[in-house]
Amino acid sequence: MKSQARVVVIGGGVVGVSVLYHLTKRGWTDVMLVERSELTSGSTWHAAGGMHTINGDPNMSHLQAYTVKLYEELERESGQSCGVHRVGCLYLAGTEARAEYFKTELAKAHYLGIGLHEVSMDEVKKINPLVDTSKFTKAMFDPADGHVDPSSVTHAYAKAAKNKGATISLRNPVLELKQKPNGHWLIVTKEGTIEAEYVVNAGGLWAREVGRLAGIDLPILPMEHEYIVTNAIPEVETLDHEIPMTIDFEGESYMRQEQKGLLIGTYEHDCRHWALKGTPQDFGHELLQEDVDRIWSALEFAMTRYPCLEKGGIKRTINGPMVFAPDGNPLVGPVPGLTNYFTACGVMAGFSQGGGVGMVVANWIIDGEPGMDVFAMDVARFGPHNNRAFTIEKTTENYRRRFTMTFPNEELPAARPLKTSPIYPLMKDEGALFGASFGWEYPLWFAPKGTKEEPTYRRSNAFAHVAAEVKAVREHVGIWETSSYGKIEVSGPDAAKFLDRMVSNKLPALGRTVLCPMLSPNGRIFGDLTVTRTAEDTFLMIGSGAAEIYYTRWLGTHAKGERVSIRNVTTDYSGLSLTGPKARDVLQQLTETDLGHTAFPFLHARQIQVGLADALVIRASFTGELGYEIYVAPHNLIHVFERLRSAGAAHGLKLFGVRALHSMRMEKGYGSWGRDFTADYNAAEADWGRFVKFDKGDFIGRAAAEKQFKEPLTRKIWLLEVASQEIDIMGAEPIFAGGKAVARVTSGYFGHSVGKQLALAYLPVAGDQFEVEVLGKRVAASRLKEAPFDPSSSRLRS
Ligand SMILES: Cc1cc2nc3c(=O)[nH]c(=O)nc-3n(C[C@H](O)[C@H](O)[C@H](O)COP(=O)(O)OP(=O)(O)OC[C@H]3O[C@@H](n4cnc5c(N)ncnc54)[C@H](O)[C@@H]3O)c2cc1C
Repeated sequence: MKSQARVVVIGGGVVGVSVLYHLTKRGWTDVMLVERSELTSGSTWHAAGGMHTINGDPNMSHLQAYTVKLYEELERESGQSCGVHRVGCLYLAGTEARAEYFKTELAKAHYLGIGLHEVSMDEVKKINPLVDTSKFTKAMFDPADGHVDPSSVTHAYAKAAKNKGATISLRNPVLELKQKPNGHWLIVTKEGTIEAEYVVNAGGLWAREVGRLAGIDLPILPMEHEYIVTNAIPEVETLDHEIPMTIDFEGESYMRQEQKGLLIGTYEHDCRHWALKGTPQDFGHELLQEDVDRIWSALEFAMTRYPCLEKGGIKRTINGPMVFAPDGNPLVGPVPGLTNYFTACGVMAGFSQGGGVGMVVANWIIDGEPGMDVFAMDVARFGPHNNRAFTIEKTTENYRRRFTMTFPNEELPAARPLKTSPIYPLMKDEGALFGASFGWEYPLWFAPKGTKEEPTYRRSNAFAHVAAEVKAVREHVGIWETSSYGKIEVSGPDAAKFLDRMVSNKLPALGRTVLCPMLSPNGRIFGDLTVTRTAEDTFLMIGSGAAEIYYTRWLGTHAKGERVSIRNVTTDYSGLSLTGPKARDVLQQLTETDLGHTAFPFLHARQIQVGLADALVIRASFTGELGYEIYVAPHNLIHVFERLRSAGAAHGLKLFGVRALHSMRMEKGYGSWGRDFTADYNAAEADWGRFVKFDKGDFIGRAAAEKQFKEPLTRKIWLLEVASQEIDIMGAEPIFAGGKAVARVTSGYFGHSVGKQLALAYLPVAGDQFEVEVLGKRVAASRLKEAPFDPSSSRLRS
């Protein structure tokens, strides 16, 4: 066995071999995979092998489309069949709401370049004659989907990687992981020790155990999953073609042909975790105890949709464990707090996602970045609060809802409320309806007593109430809570030198705040934060709450050898944004500090007294109005909140939620990180010229950004007005020019004070007239020359 390799991948399931293959594809051939048993010894061997492209997250769909397309190439490279049955996937809907969901998926297919299209019930009868079409109203079909042979795919990846120089060590469990002072890993296996620069945990069912070898607890758990295979069925025997994989969303089942019978599986509500405390090391090519009773009601329902199923009888039942993360997406990337330890696990649909996961991990190791926006599967989207108890509750919810539709305005209830600020009960009393991000509860909007929001793809009953919140802020003053924002303190003798290298803007002087993007080495958008200098050698970075671990990981990775301390101080500060034309009048009543524009200008920060509390106040606002972000110790939050509310009562102060915030930021054309600003775009495309300073020293991504700003742009972020007054933009709608999909909406919201439907998108630089597909209808959209609300920003700077 080799004793050295550049990368060691632990685990020879479909995901591990895909990582190995993609490393070799990028030219890294000194790579090795270590497998405790034979290839496919985890979840992989008993998978149904189904593959499909659609996913709620467009970037996940993109990676699934990549995976699904890869198999023929893999067959050519490896000389090994993947057992590809490209029979397509038929998706069936029998309710109006589900039909609307289909419209949004069909819309996304336009820019994802996938062949998903609507089919009539007559076509359904031809594609899959086993379906009772009277039960359905709408159907979609993707001819690229189908199923593969799990074992053949795994061996094809492995062969193709070996052909390029990779080595695979079988029947060789990894027993220990140690890290040398130079960061290299010592992988202690049954056959000896291997030294590697990088280690990849692709341990699948045992990923938790492989994580523990490096002292980490990964938020994933195995769930039992069952499917049955029937005996031969006369209607199947007489088919003249293989039927496609067929998904009945209301029935929460997937079905495909298996020889002369059918294979049918379901995500039952009465679900079970497996091996909660840890996967036994001696679990091999075994199945779990079958329990058909648990899925019987789903099978009975399926018989009403595919009547011939009744004739089959059950030939065999497969019950196997498959690993889930709390949100059902994979767990990929460098693990925060460790050096050169990557995960490629939590992959619950290995035959739809394994190729994409392998490609992303290989890029990340080789380039230091994944090459596209993969936050939806980044291991850093989870934090310490995502412990085992949390993971149990969320994986239960997620498993049950695998085929259940989540409406765009719907918030899921499991594991909540988890993180609440001191004013949570007060906001609840005021009618706040909450969403959750990174465990934090934050208000969506404030509803009159007894009012709930109906889940819908259309305009909801929140509309008029959000409009009233916007009006109050635009005309008077409002409060939005910012406690959940991610806050990171960077301090120490080398803090300025270090941070100057991390961000593309010039650092602020003492008492000033600056918008500071962070770029990736290839000039892609990495982060978008405000940086406030609170002391000569101390900076407070404030950004999206969902990204606090993502940012601290990035800063920590680059701070090697510098005298700098990086502290996640999110819970040290609670925050309120007081904003609107009367904001100064309200705050001035609570402080002796002169808040006049000259004394306390825009983007300045002061440590002042607010009421009886010490507060860091930053003059900034995401609404486009005069505003102050007020940060205090959590124990002072109620005090400051109550004082502001009493001082604001005479000025028409109103609490507002994130929906009103989105409406107002769209009216100003402000993009937001994670939606409009992601690694899919670069700083030139994001129109960030004023935040990327080439007249300062070197910073990460500088060389790439210089090139991007010099080259002619093909697309750039722009605000669109969309002629849809009754159905609101949700984000991810395709945009057409001359009948061709040219972009997608990155975020959209109704601008309540300007009465316009607004959308942000990276549009081609030429042309002003576009169409946006909104719930199946194409409506006219035009490029706006400037923000529709206060384009000169006089209110913000007043
Ligand atoms: C019943 C069932 C049906 C399914 N149907 C589908 C489907 O239709 N389509 C689909 O896409 N997915 C399906 N899946 C899910 C699919 O099986 C998984 O997504 C996929 O197999 C995950 O692969 P993996 O490589 O991450 O993990 P695994 O297959 O679990 O592989 C992990 C590997 O790591 C090895 N390993 C662990 N610890 C060590 C160690 N210490 N040292 C060395 N090696 C180690 C193991 O031996 C194992 O081979 C199904 C799952 C089940 C249970």
